[in-house]
Amino acid sequence: MNNHKGLIFDIQRFSIHDGPGIRTTVFMKGCPLRCLWCSNPESQDFFPNLMVRDINCKGCGACVNACPQGAITMTQAEGRKIEWSRCDQCLLCTGACIYHSLNRRGSYMEVPDIVQEIRKDEGFYRNSGGGVTVSGGEALWQSEIVAQLLAACKAEGMHTALDTTGHSSWEKLASVLNFTDLVLFDVKHLDSGAHRRATGVGNEQILENLVKAAKKKRIWIRMPLIAGFNDSEAHIQELTALAKRNGAEKISLLPYHEGGKAKSPQLGRIYPYPDAVAPAENHIHRLKDIMEKEGIVVSIGS
Ligand code: SF4
Ligand code: SF4
Repeated sequence: MNNHKGLIFDIQRFSIHDGPGIRTTVFMKGCPLRCLWCSNPESQDFFPNLMVRDINCKGCGACVNACPQGAITMTQAEGRKIEWSRCDQCLLCTGACIYHSLNRRGSYMEVPDIVQEIRKDEGFYRNSGGGVTVSGGEALWQSEIVAQLLAACKAEGMHTALDTTGHSSWEKLASVLNFTDLVLFDVKHLDSGAHRRATGVGNEQILENLVKAAKKKRIWIRMPLIAGFNDSEAHIQELTALAKRNGAEKISLLPYHEGGKAKSPQLGRIYPYPDAVAPAENHIHRLKDIMEKEGIVVSIGS
């Protein structure tokens, strides 16, 4: 951990899925949850990771000598292979691979440098009602840097949004809300046991934070939608009631997609949820109708 820099895993420009208008989304690295369906598993660790793209490998062998752990082998039968149990994430091999087959995911950046990146698209924000969104991982685990970043963006007149799992102390969340116009609050499941089984943590603190945040700021609720996990009509009715009680402006349903399935092996991991699927389209629209009948604004996919 670096106290003066933020650990970022991506800065995505022209984003239209993370709040109103055209936005730049800053993805902070590190997350205390382990959602089975996570589409960005490279966001989870609190340190930079090795991520592999086999298709780029030219078989030059430079990485074999660069690895002090002897974790990389090269054979005729298997080509370049990584023994992940030996890898300590030193990332020396990423410097040796000029073909971008071995890549570092995660960089430490100072706030002024992040703001400089964000500023590049300022014209788009002004014309589209967009701005900057800080997402993750879980951004609140770097709350000091995130508060500084959003304060700097606000000082330049940008609209600011925070996309959060809500899993943090209230103090950290409140410190960031001071510089946040809109909260995109993720809700995965309203039953704490089901939440814990799918993410590794219960939802009590998350729901408490949602209630408190909604008293201070505009909120949109976002829910990943996974068939057989959280897509029952009863669960959607509960979610609708939560949104109404807390004055949420909108619910975004984010149907499951397979992003994490391809990425997990690139990080040396086994994808933990191979059977996950999105609900059928007509079912998603039925859920949308249920919410809309209660006066909730609903979007699908963003
Ligand atoms: S250095 Fe890169 S291209 Fe060369 S063998 Fe290693 S992974 Fe493949
Ligand atoms: S990151 Fe892993 S594979 Fe790469 S050089 Fe370090 S130990 Fe070896």
